[in-house]
Amino acid sequence: MIETQDIEKPRIVTQSPVKGRLNKTADYELTIVVPVYNEEANMEALEQRLSAFISQPGLSACVLFVNDGSVDQSRERIIEACRRQKHFYHLGLSRNSGLSAALKAGIDTAFSTYVGYMDADLQTTPEDFNLLLPFREDFEMVMGIRTVREDSLVKRTSSKIANGFRRFITKDGITDTGCPLKIMKTSTAKQIPFFNGMHRFLPALVQLQNGRVKEVPVRHFPRVAGQSKYNLRNRLVDPLIDCFAFRWMKSRYLNIEITEKYIE
Ligand code: UDP
Ligand code: MG
Repeated sequence: MIETQDIEKPRIVTQSPVKGRLNKTADYELTIVVPVYNEEANMEALEQRLSAFISQPGLSACVLFVNDGSVDQSRERIIEACRRQKHFYHLGLSRNSGLSAALKAGIDTAFSTYVGYMDADLQTTPEDFNLLLPFREDFEMVMGIRTVREDSLVKRTSSKIANGFRRFITKDGITDTGCPLKIMKTSTAKQIPFFNGMHRFLPALVQLQNGRVKEVPVRHFPRVAGQSKYNLRNRLVDPLIDCFAFRWMKSRYLNIEITEKYIE
């Protein structure tokens, strides 16, 4: 057990936009980004499940925790896990910035061919990445559909309303846009226009770049530890407003295709 005082305090990291762009994630085929905000109670099980998953034969994958300014012991738990597990990495945001920001930080840092995303609360399980992986080459995004939702009635209902309205506005044809189990081609993920709340529009934002999206049924589990960070307002009202921002962006989106390049 590592004492908290032994763990160095976070430092501000400035990165040159050109030099040092690549990092260890470039050695793997898949980087699994896991946003973490006050999830200390989930860290032990999360470490075990992720470690078991990435150890399976034939898979080249690493884990990248993004600590989104947690105020509990999540940061310490993450650092301990990364010391124990060879293929675990982490980064930390200076303050709590929201799930979209944590995801963006993870995607910016990933240089593997594919980037995966799952939540730290284990409501989806890393084993189900195996259901998505077979489609990774043919689709820019492969994502889950939570067929049996293990959430409260309020959460299920608000999610259903938000999903229906979003589908109506975005015309993305996606069943479960917020499902926290996704794999994207990293080159596609890096092109996604990011804004606070964008994590609810990921498939539609991939389709904006003419990306193909595949949905696959996955399992869903109740949250057994820690607490949900989203309430009725930030699950329902804000995302509805974001739908109009998406519609505007869709009408103005620049899809640039370079057909000739003489520079390398
Ligand atoms: N999360 C985050 N920053 C936040 C809120 C949430 O990184 O400001 C993480 C959280 O730790 C979890 C994921 O985003 O891994 C989804 O959050 P949560 O499970 O609370 O959302 P819900 O499933 O209830 O919609
Ligand atoms: Mg959750």
